[in-house]
Amino acid sequence: MEKDIAQVLISQQQLQERIEALAREVMAEYGDKKPVFVGVLKGVVVFYTDFIRAFRAPCQMDFMWVSSYSGTQSTGKMLVRQDVTEDLKGRHVVILEDIFDTGNSLNFVYQHLLTKEPASIKICTLLDKPARRAPHVTLKADFVGFEVPDLFVVGYGLDYNEYYRNLPYVGVLKPEVYQ
Ligand code: 5GP
Ligand code: MG
Repeated sequence: MEKDIAQVLISQQQLQERIEALAREVMAEYGDKKPVFVGVLKGVVVFYTDFIRAFRAPCQMDFMWVSSYSGTQSTGKMLVRQDVTEDLKGRHVVILEDIFDTGNSLNFVYQHLLTKEPASIKICTLLDKPARRAPHVTLKADFVGFEVPDLFVVGYGLDYNEYYRNLPYVGVLKPEVYQ
């Protein structure tokens, strides 16, 4: 697994330090609002579990699983494979995502959660790749862990063909792995 990695982009220590700081930023804004953190499966799980333990104030956990109809990412047309289970009406929702790439999936999740009439919705993403944003996506992330260049990254929850999610850092795959 590690032999397939060309470069470690964000180390385990960098991730840990930044996520602690990010959780403090969100805590400062939410105070005692008891936010519901909606994680977008599956890529978010590693970030989610570190973030939630660094968020030292009352909050609740929920998850959504969405995918595109074609099975490939970022084609635009999405469906809900698993919806949230909490009643979000009047609640302060924070969407947690692994990576904000074209924005198609976040856009879809955001619009879907809006229909549940929450008091507010904000977006917290571990990684942001602004260079890749689709022109129709006007959403902005409210909290960002790291801005990354336009490279396909894996690890810390992010996969290639469902592998590499368990790498403890964010890395770039060697090109021969794709071929
Ligand atoms: P979107 O393009 O809709 O913003 O991102 C959709 C999903 O594509 C992300 O949630 C993530 O699962 C996946 N994705 C986007 N960029 C990358 C990347 O660089 N590496 C990996 N492993 N997945 C990515
Ligand atoms: Mg994702």
